[in-house]
Amino acid sequence: MMAEQAITTPPLVTIFGPPGSALGYAIRDFLYRSDVPFQWVQLENDAQARLDAGVEHLADARLPVCVFADGTRLECPTIRQITEKLGWFHTPTRAAYDLAIYGAGPAGLSAAVYGASEGLKTVLIERYTLGGQAGSSSRIENYLGFPGGISGAELAERAREQVCRFGAEILLAREGVRADCTPHQMGGYLADGTKIIARATICATGVAYRRLGLAHEERFQGAGLFYGAGASEAALTNGALVFVVGGGNSAGQAAMHFAQAACRVTIVIRGESLSSTLSQYLVDRITATPNIEVLTQTEVAALDGDDILRQITLTDRASGQSRTVASSWLFVCIGGEPQTEWATDVGIVRDASGYLVTGPDLVRNGRCPAHWPLDREPYYLETSMPGLFAAGDVRHGSIKRCASAVGEGASIATWQADEPARCADLSRRGFLPRPARCGRLAR
Ligand SMILES: Cc1cc2nc3c(=O)[nH]c(=O)nc-3n(C[C@H](O)[C@H](O)[C@H](O)COP(=O)(O)OP(=O)(O)OC[C@H]3O[C@@H](n4cnc5c(N)ncnc54)[C@H](O)[C@@H]3O)c2cc1C
Repeated sequence: MMAEQAITTPPLVTIFGPPGSALGYAIRDFLYRSDVPFQWVQLENDAQARLDAGVEHLADARLPVCVFADGTRLECPTIRQITEKLGWFHTPTRAAYDLAIYGAGPAGLSAAVYGASEGLKTVLIERYTLGGQAGSSSRIENYLGFPGGISGAELAERAREQVCRFGAEILLAREGVRADCTPHQMGGYLADGTKIIARATICATGVAYRRLGLAHEERFQGAGLFYGAGASEAALTNGALVFVVGGGNSAGQAAMHFAQAACRVTIVIRGESLSSTLSQYLVDRITATPNIEVLTQTEVAALDGDDILRQITLTDRASGQSRTVASSWLFVCIGGEPQTEWATDVGIVRDASGYLVTGPDLVRNGRCPAHWPLDREPYYLETSMPGLFAAGDVRHGSIKRCASAVGEGASIATWQADEPARCADLSRRGFLPRPARCGRLAR
């Protein structure tokens, strides 16, 4: 079986792997989101594994094998190794920056474009690849300026060009794990121990999909069970029965995408209808697509299989009755969990669900949060630590859309460019910072 990201573009990478290879899926997902043309060659037996991939058999630990256009061969590579091979892995060039941005979804990319274009020494740090959630979308149709829609991967690639043109640094395959916060100077620690110092920092780390919480989830992940819209998998679902869990726009888009190849797509939702959770344009399209069905008041109760997911148990919430369906394609697009674990260690104020609280939402009865060290209130989009901002989906009360994330990233970065002048003005008017205090800021 073969799948190509873009039939018209010659593949930059050919991946050889067995069916149900979780790493094979991870590589396809990474390349798809990174807008790198690739070809997946699914190995069906030992003879083909020997002939095509140059390994002993289908269970060979060297699989999957990636062969690049220049002939480079990577066996069972990590995403980091592929990032390096693509020439995208860099080390920071400065000891300190004006602006550090964590997360390269729409909010982070926009902040990087606007920060760098205003002359700020800007660094953008991303743990995976550019585009964030948007990068996994097969077609974004409501983003201004693209009347025919645009894939998230292409949108991210266009943003990357702008970020680079304005001179911001991009550090890919780097994860922010810990922070040292003092007002207007934050030290962010990356997983490899690198420290990034910046006068202003933007947390744009978005949200990640929630898990179903069922037995065997780990075992089937990437082998029949996929978190997210799985845009890279559409061609592989040819003629199959596909199940999509979730009632949001990401689930709706995924269903529309799979419906082009799959025999039937079933959307599974716990609620009574899609109309309360899905944009109307998607409700209309789904209703008009004959091979999409919607199972309401239903939840996935169990997963079964061998090396690959083979069977899904669905339970009707009203009657309590369960039934099993045979499928190796289950895409989970339920809710989001903000990526803010690091903030608890430094006492940044979060809401009950973990989203970062900013600006006016931090002020209660005219009072700033405990330990707020300045004589001014937090700026709009500023967290409970001066100089640390939040943009996009990770922010409490944000609108979960590309355009709003882009707008927030742009506002903070542009605002930061004016910060020295504004500080001077505040000091002239007597709003002097109190002595800085570190430590927990929790209320
Ligand atoms: C399938 C799908 C389809 C969608 N379609 C639409 C649509 O049509 N229209 C629309 O307006 N919106 C759409 N959305 C929603 C939209 O994509 C999001 O609202 C938007 O991506 C939020 O942007 P963000 O930058 O805030 O966060 P995200 O896009 O979530 O990006 C956050 C980034 O931060 C990175 N990150 C997380 N933690 C760390 C860390 N510790 N260190 C470094 N990096 C980190 C993540 O890897 C990620 O790349 C869709 C979402 C999905 C999933």
